[in-house]
Amino acid sequence: MRAASGAARGSRAVIRRSMRDTSNHPTNRTARPSRTQADNDATDPKGRDTNSQPVVGTRYPFTCPVCGGRKANATYKRDRSGRTVWFVGCFSTGCRELGGEYLNALAEKVGAPSGAAVKESPVQYLTALPSLRRSKAPAGDLPEMPSRARFTGWAKRLLSTPEPMAYLTEERGLTPDVIETLEIGWDGERLMFPMRVGGEIVAYKTRVPRPRAQMRCCSGSGRPWPLYPEPDPDWSWLVLTAGELDAARLLSAGLPACSVSLGAGTWRDDWTGNLDGRPVAVLFDNNETDLARERAAALRSAGLDARRIDLRRLGLKGKKADVSDYLNGGGSVRRLRDLALGKVG
Ligand SMILES: [Zn+2]
Repeated sequence: MRAASGAARGSRAVIRRSMRDTSNHPTNRTARPSRTQADNDATDPKGRDTNSQPVVGTRYPFTCPVCGGRKANATYKRDRSGRTVWFVGCFSTGCRELGGEYLNALAEKVGAPSGAAVKESPVQYLTALPSLRRSKAPAGDLPEMPSRARFTGWAKRLLSTPEPMAYLTEERGLTPDVIETLEIGWDGERLMFPMRVGGEIVAYKTRVPRPRAQMRCCSGSGRPWPLYPEPDPDWSWLVLTAGELDAARLLSAGLPACSVSLGAGTWRDDWTGNLDGRPVAVLFDNNETDLARERAAALRSAGLDARRIDLRRLGLKGKKADVSDYLNGGGSVRRLRDLALGKVG
C-alpha cells in the first residue's frame, strides 16, 4: 500500500515464486514484545525440540508436579560466572520451603535420575509432565487440526470481510497479494494464520484484528512449529523477524522475510536447516536487541552469514518499535535492504 506501491510488485514476484516452488505453502506470525512473551507462555515445552539450543531468556512455565501449582518455570540464563545454565524452580510457598531439595523432589516426579539431571536438561523431563500450564490437551494428544477446506474457507471469508481486511492492509500495511498467498483467514472473530511445513498446514496462530492484540498459538503439544512463512527456496538471502505480521509486512514491501514462531527467545535447530546457508539479517523489535544479537551470533556460529539490523540506525527510536512501524511510517525499503545486505557501514 502506501509506503510501498512500487515494492509491492516485487513482493508479488517473491510470493508467487514461493507458491510455485513449494507447492503452495504459507504461514504466519506477529511480533511485538508483549505478544512475543505471550507466545512463549502459550506454547508448552512439549512443542519444542529438546535438542534445540536455547538462547538466553528462554523460559518454560510448567505446572509443578510437586505442589500442583502454576508458579514453576525453567529459565535459561547466565549464572554469576557468566555461564549460561538452566534455572529450574517453583515459587509456591511449599516448594520454596524445600530449598535445594526441590530439584530432587521434581526429579522423582518426572522420572529423572537426579535433580542435577533435571537442571541440566529440563525440557527433556518437563515433556513427561502430565499437565503443563494452560495446556488443555492430555499429554501426547494432539488435537486435530482444522481441515484444509476450513482454512480455505476462512481465507475466502477474510477477503470479503472489510473490517479485518482494513486492519491488515491499512493498519499493518499488508498487500492483498500477501494476505492471499499466506492464506490468512477470518473465522468471524479472529484472524487465522496457518503455518506450514512442505506446504502442509501443521499449526496455526490466531489473533483479533486490533492493535496490540496478542497472537495465540493453536493448542496441542508437540507440533512442529515452522518458520513463518517457510523460506522460499529461491530467496538468496532473507530477513528474520520475531513477528509473523512483521514478516508479512516485509513480504508486502517486496523483501524476502520469515519469522520465528515461538517468540524472539526461542530457536529450533531445524530452522537453521531451513535457512539453507543463506545470508540472514536478524531484525527484531527495539526491545529485543539482546535476543537479536544472540540469534545473529548463534547463526554465525552455525556457519551462516548473519548480521543484525538495528532499527535505531534507521531512525526508529521507540522502545518497542518494530519494522512494521518503520515501513508503515514511510520508511525507505531501499535503506532497509541496503542495511540488511551490509551495503551501508
Ligand atoms: Zn511447586
